[in-house]
Amino acid sequence: MNYQWLGLWVLTASLYASPQCYTQGYGTLITSANETSLVLKDGTQLPYHTDSAKTSWDEKINNADLEMQLAQAYDAGGIETPPPYLFDPGRLRYQPFFQALYGKDKKAIEKNLVTIQWPTLKGSVKLPVNKVGEVDKKLYAIGQEIAKLPKKDRIWAEGATTYCYRVIKDTDRLSMHSFGIAIDLAPNTTQYWKDEAPSETAKIGYKNTMPMSIVRIFEKHGFIWGGRWYHYDTMHFEYRPELLAPACARKGI
Ligand SMILES: [Zn+2]
Repeated sequence: MNYQWLGLWVLTASLYASPQCYTQGYGTLITSANETSLVLKDGTQLPYHTDSAKTSWDEKINNADLEMQLAQAYDAGGIETPPPYLFDPGRLRYQPFFQALYGKDKKAIEKNLVTIQWPTLKGSVKLPVNKVGEVDKKLYAIGQEIAKLPKKDRIWAEGATTYCYRVIKDTDRLSMHSFGIAIDLAPNTTQYWKDEAPSETAKIGYKNTMPMSIVRIFEKHGFIWGGRWYHYDTMHFEYRPELLAPACARKGI
């Protein structure tokens, strides 16, 4: 463990994490949020903190709660920088939160999916996206903005895929693609940490080809980018407005 970065993480967590990140990020979908619980618009109550072990990295990844979900501050609008060791803002997730918002199982999620048009160099493709919280409208707006970029940037938004009900490779955790709130771009020419490293705690060299012009458009609309993770997934964007809320974001967008 690199203790310098652990210290930075603890510092950023204490400075930035606040239950208000949820109410700021999700608006009317969340009725209230405090250090005890989060209440959703439909009355669902979720604990802010759970007692499951969160000491080792594996425990953090598998047992994250709503508090830990905010513990690493996302550098919205930041320059492209190799992230510190085990610094994955947004990758520590509390799955029941996403199930409560977007659908508790495959059937419930699919009821919330609508289709958007995503511009391509040759026209457009249809992509299924969750309509809860208007994620569909936000992703549509992102596509429209990317379509105005020069071709050298636009080519990185080709080959887009969104909804797919599946677990994350080699884990029991549902991928954010299962909720219809994530998109992968340019899957054949982007970079994924698992292609380089054997385990979560391995030393991994950072790689990225996704242009920051595309990343910034996503961040402006409430999506985080997997290229800001130590466990980089540079094709991947997901809707996580709590990490971009004023109470949480490290910088303005
Ligand atoms: Zn993805």
